[in-house]
Amino acid sequence: MTAVFGGIFGLATLTSLIALLIQGVPVRDERALVAASPAASAAGTDGAAGPSSVPEVKTKQRTPLPGPWRISELGKDPSVLLVSDVMDRRSFITALDEKGVPKAQIYRIMKAFDGLRKFDKCGRKDRFTVAMDRSTRRVRAFEYEVSASEIYQARDDAAGLLKGAALDMKIAEEEVVASFYVGKDLADAIRAGGLESGVLDAIDDALNGRLSTESFEEGSTVRLIAVEETALGMFSRYKKVIALEYRPADPAEKPVRIYDFKGQEARGTFDERGRQPHAGGWRAPLPGAPVTSKFNPQRMHPVLKKRMPHNGTDFGAPTGTPVYSAYRGVVDWVGPAGPSGNLVTVAHPNGVTTGYAHLSRYAPGIKAGMKVGTHQLVGYVGSTGRSTGPHLHFTAKRDGKYFDAETLQLDGERVMPAIDRAAFAAAKEALDKRLDAIPLPEPPPEPAKPEAAEPPSPPLAATGSEASAAAAPDVGPSGPNEHEAQPPEGAGDDEGELIEGADLKSPPEAM
Ligand SMILES: [Zn+2]
Repeated sequence: MTAVFGGIFGLATLTSLIALLIQGVPVRDERALVAASPAASAAGTDGAAGPSSVPEVKTKQRTPLPGPWRISELGKDPSVLLVSDVMDRRSFITALDEKGVPKAQIYRIMKAFDGLRKFDKCGRKDRFTVAMDRSTRRVRAFEYEVSASEIYQARDDAAGLLKGAALDMKIAEEEVVASFYVGKDLADAIRAGGLESGVLDAIDDALNGRLSTESFEEGSTVRLIAVEETALGMFSRYKKVIALEYRPADPAEKPVRIYDFKGQEARGTFDERGRQPHAGGWRAPLPGAPVTSKFNPQRMHPVLKKRMPHNGTDFGAPTGTPVYSAYRGVVDWVGPAGPSGNLVTVAHPNGVTTGYAHLSRYAPGIKAGMKVGTHQLVGYVGSTGRSTGPHLHFTAKRDGKYFDAETLQLDGERVMPAIDRAAFAAAKEALDKRLDAIPLPEPPPEPAKPEAAEPPSPPLAATGSEASAAAAPDVGPSGPNEHEAQPPEGAGDDEGELIEGADLKSPPEAM
C-alpha cells in the first residue's frame, strides 16, 4: 500500500509529517509545523506583493514516463496525411468518412480491432487520428483516444498488416491526501491545496447531493483522501474520494464527513451514521438548508386572519446560494411570475412539476424545453417577487394541484445493512484517524480574517451518534420569515398568490 503524500505539502514538511505521524504527535503540532514550513516562509515577494498575492501553491511533483510510439510522430513524414477529429454524435464510419478516409480503409481499421474493441458505441469526446498515405489513402496508422489513460492504436506492420492494440499508458493509482481552505475563488483554493480541477467533480460525486461544492462557503475547509489515476506518470483523473471532511466556517456548526465503503451489501459513500442517499430519488433543492416554513393548505394568515394556504416549502438560505432541480425533467418555465418573482419550474417524468421561486438569478443558459438532471443547477436563492427576505419557495404540483413537496422524501436515505455495520464502523474509525491527521489548511495570506477559533469540543470526535441535521441553525431575525411578516398592503402573501402567478400557461408578462 503506497500512501503517497507526494508534494501535497513541501518535501521537508512531508518528511517531518510522516515522522510525526509515526510518533503519534497530536494534530495541533503538525499544524504549527506546516505554518513554519520552509514553503510557507519562502514566499520571497511577500512584502512587495502585499496581501493580495497569490496563495502558496503546493504543486504535486510529477515525472513523465517514457511512453509508447504515438501516431503524431508520423506527422513529420511528408508522404503521410494526418487527419484528426472528435466523434461528436457521429457514427464511427461517418466520422472517418467525413475526414476523407476511404470506406474500405475504415473497415480495415475496424477489422484490426476484431475481438478487442468495437466502435459501435463512441463517446462524444472520443478523438480519432488517422495517418494515411498521401497519394493512395491507405491507412498507415490509427489512434482512438477515449481518455488520457485509454488509447487504442493500430499500425501497419512490416508485412503491411494493420493490427490493433490498447496502448500501455502505465496506468497507476496513487492516494492523494490534501486539504484546502475555501476562499473567494474555489478554483484558486484547490490549486493552493495542490489539487487538479477535476477534484470538485470527484467531491460532488462523493457528496452525492448531501452538499455541493458550489455551496461551500468562504472560510470553510476541506480535508480529503482520494485516489488519483496517472497515465505515463502524469495526472489523468480522480478515481474516487475515499474520505472527506467539510468543515463550515462557523466553528459551532458540525463538520460533515463522508466515507467510501464497500461491504457485503453496502457500497458507495456513507455519512457518519452509515447512511446514503437513495439512488435515483428526489433531492433537496438546497442541500442542507433548513425548512423555515412548511406546506400548509389551511394556514391562517397571522395578520390578515384569513385562510391563506402556504402552497410550498420554504428553505432558508442567503441570496446567491445555488438551487438545484429536485429530480430530472424538462424545464417548463423560466422567467418572472408575479408574486413568485423569478421562477423556474421543471416537469418531471412522473407527472410532478416542481417550482423554484423568488430566485435572484437563473442558472446560465437555462431555458424552457431544456432537459435537466437530478441536482442540476437551476438558479440562485433570492428575494424577488412578494418576499421579504432571501429564501427558496419550493413547490410540487400534480394534476394541477399543489401538494406537500416534503412527501417526495427529499434526500431519502438508506441505512447501513446490519451485516455490514461492524465492518463500516471499523473502516470509518480508520479513516477518521487519517482525516484527523491532515493539518487543517490555513487561510490564504490575506490581512483581515483572524483565523477561526479552535472548535470548543474535541473537534474530530466523530462519534457518529448524532444527526448533523439536528444542528441546523435557526434562521436569524433578518432571515426569510416572511410568513409572520406583514405582507404588502392589499396583497395576499407570496404563496397565496403563487397559484395564479405561477400558472405555467399564463405567465404575467410576455416572455
Ligand atoms: Zn413560501
